[in-house]
Amino acid sequence: MAQVEVVRLAKSFGAVDIIRDLDLRIANGEFVVLVGPSGCGKTTLLRMIAGLEATTAGEIRIGERDVTHLSPRNRDIAMVFQSYALYPHMTAAENMGFSLKLAKVPQPQINDQVNRAAKMLHIDHLLSRKPRELSGGQRQRVAMGRAMVRQPAVYLFDEPLSNLDAQLRTSMRAEIKRMHLEEKQTVIYVTHDQIEAMTLADRIVAMRAGRIEQIGSPDDLYNRPATTFVAKFIGSPAMNLLPATVGDGVIIVTGGPSFPLPPAFAHLKDESGRKVLLGVRPEAFHLEARRSDWPSFTITASLIEPCGAEVYVIGDLAGRDVTLRLQPGTAPERGQTRSFHVDAGAVHLFDAETERSLR
Ligand code: ATP
Repeated sequence: MAQVEVVRLAKSFGAVDIIRDLDLRIANGEFVVLVGPSGCGKTTLLRMIAGLEATTAGEIRIGERDVTHLSPRNRDIAMVFQSYALYPHMTAAENMGFSLKLAKVPQPQINDQVNRAAKMLHIDHLLSRKPRELSGGQRQRVAMGRAMVRQPAVYLFDEPLSNLDAQLRTSMRAEIKRMHLEEKQTVIYVTHDQIEAMTLADRIVAMRAGRIEQIGSPDDLYNRPATTFVAKFIGSPAMNLLPATVGDGVIIVTGGPSFPLPPAFAHLKDESGRKVLLGVRPEAFHLEARRSDWPSFTITASLIEPCGAEVYVIGDLAGRDVTLRLQPGTAPERGQTRSFHVDAGAVHLFDAETERSLR
């Protein structure tokens, strides 16, 4: 295991800057998840750390070593991709032990390491099977086992679960989490899946156009997003954002109601006229008012989306679409108008121009 440090890293393809002046320090044993919209540079960053992509500028350190100009096999990393090519003519055990065999590790030691990884991945009963005799999820576990037997300093995962069906994904996710809790490997993991990011990460790195927009615990990014970009990107359905203005001790929603400045934003009391964006998460709307001075909104339901354990309601608030996440049985019917309340502590405010949090 080792820490990973990326210092002022840059990457251009031709004239296009893909990674810009990026600094990132990952502690020994930390599980870091990279998220961000398609094309923001997550895979490029991972491939540079792996040594599969040359850097344009900057430095990459793994443990105590500067590995910036080392080849992938000298970096002591293992990478697991979304598409995992196993050798079809080899058994699961042979696939897993292949890199050790190439490194001329004695066979009894290879067997020990393969068996140990197979036990952790619950595939010890499948070791003599060929890839075609395995399910997708079992094959993916063999691919992970192949990375694990090498006991690298750092694991790099690029959407390793995205080819699996929803059920397998959920169980593999739990498996990866359990493995990390037991072994405390250093992991850098790219995903588009919100739940994977929230459940696996010690810290999430939210990337935007080759830069880090915010880095923090899942709780930080969800409950204290630094910008509207992070607020919209983390959480599904996304946070509602409504234009509003600071008034005399109040927030006035454009074309809608006003409510007293929440305590967290008391510092805005002398900023009458400042344009802001009001952020409310879909689950923050309640039918019952917990305090009369907290925000309340009149919303007319225009679309109802039942999702089993919860219902998403798209509604009109002061001429704009908002999404609410409600318990079944509490949702209005299509066309009905209701008053919804939001706790003052659940209100987010962002500067309308810089889009940065005003908290
Ligand atoms: P996704 O979530 O879609 O996988 P990503 O965040 O991983 O996206 P990258 O794959 O890192 O994004 O790509 C970042 C940008 O770099 C994209 O605009 C992509 O087109 C560009 N890019 C990647 N590889 C090359 C290359 N070899 N030559 C030119 N441009 C490239």
